[in-house]
Amino acid sequence: MLLCAQYIVPIASEPFQRGAVLVRDGAIADVGPADILRTRYPEEETKDFGMAVLMPGLVDLHTHTENSVFRGIVHDVPYTTWVRAVAEKSGALETHDWRDSAMLGCLEAVSSGITCIADITATGAAGYATDKVGMRSVIYREVGAMDQRRIDYAMRVAANDIAHWQELADPARMTIGIAPAAIYTCHPGVFTKVSEFARKQNLPVAMHLAGSREEYQFVKRGSSPFAVHTMGSKRGYVEIPPWLPTGVSPVRYALNWGAFESDNVMAIHCIHIDDDDIKKLKEYDVAVASCPRCSAQLGMGLPPISEFLRARLRFGFGTDSPAATDSIDMFNEMRLGMLLQRAVSPDTFLDSTTLLEAATIGGARALKLDHLIGSLEIGKRADIIAVDLSGSHQTPTNDPVSAVVNTSNGSDVLMTMVEGNVLFEKNHWHVEADVAHTIARVIEIRGKLRG
Ligand SMILES: [Zn+2]
Repeated sequence: MLLCAQYIVPIASEPFQRGAVLVRDGAIADVGPADILRTRYPEEETKDFGMAVLMPGLVDLHTHTENSVFRGIVHDVPYTTWVRAVAEKSGALETHDWRDSAMLGCLEAVSSGITCIADITATGAAGYATDKVGMRSVIYREVGAMDQRRIDYAMRVAANDIAHWQELADPARMTIGIAPAAIYTCHPGVFTKVSEFARKQNLPVAMHLAGSREEYQFVKRGSSPFAVHTMGSKRGYVEIPPWLPTGVSPVRYALNWGAFESDNVMAIHCIHIDDDDIKKLKEYDVAVASCPRCSAQLGMGLPPISEFLRARLRFGFGTDSPAATDSIDMFNEMRLGMLLQRAVSPDTFLDSTTLLEAATIGGARALKLDHLIGSLEIGKRADIIAVDLSGSHQTPTNDPVSAVVNTSNGSDVLMTMVEGNVLFEKNHWHVEADVAHTIARVIEIRGKLRG
């Protein structure tokens, strides 16, 4: 299939006009000027997107797609209130509810140009949904235990799930990983065990880290709402035992318990960190996922994106929980990340190119999938999107990168392709999932969450 558009943004090289991308056997077979490729491949089926940009699919480094049903339910409250409310409401949902909720999230992701998600889940719903929808994913099995005596049991159950999920997964599109639960819900020994297991099984690891002031205060000084309340979880309530201040930052605490000892580790948020923490993240080659919209929405703080980039960390963006942000839209994430950073760090004025790189090849590097995805290069897998640039809100434009980052939204996506398969075209789906049924089911599930 020959894809043509007014602009091609390969990411790995300079954007160019009137270009084409040849897709064969799920891979990118050629990239170049449209007239040359049309002549070179005269028999090829051609899709011309006109005034649009063809670019690599967006890589969303952090999602909880199974929380899509919570959209708009807990609003206008700060992080600790929000996390507790969502955990409480989670108790009302059953396995098939989580799956339909995750399906909705994955459909939204695909329709907004996201071709790969990295999702943390205890239920596995995201794995089920990404498989049905046909997108690429890294699915991290969350594991946590507050009581030290429960760690081995929790690890055994997680190991069983991981083995089962690996059997079900299509390895061409899905990687299974493991995620220690949030620091304030977890005995630190979990971090050590997760690292050992990840090293042995060669699994990627993701963890929420240094996301809120409350977490920082909890770890360093032993005082915060987390120290005096009980936290809910999908697996029931757990009592937090008396907590002694550690005197160190959350990053240093995770490091001290061996959390960065495996080969492919990603830390999510990393908002409340200092220069030494960043040095340690670099030293251990820990990737960082920023979720600027979620962080702002819940009053968690501002991720120091300029510092991550300056330290040359593997870095990208995540949309985080739809229960917080209300939409799975990486365009918003890029834009907000860039504007907030410019507002507070005018000396390191971030440009659109840097942000678009972070949302594509940066995300791919963070997941160690950059040999497969993240740019339009011959030989890479064909995870490609077309973004409309003909709207009144985008006209006139002569810089496709600036137009994508500054003026486009998820709703401007015309086509999403993963592994050479077109999953979504404007107003038309090519997926195994029943879209209307999913929406109807999620509305039904919402009935359980009232009150
Ligand atoms: Zn999260």
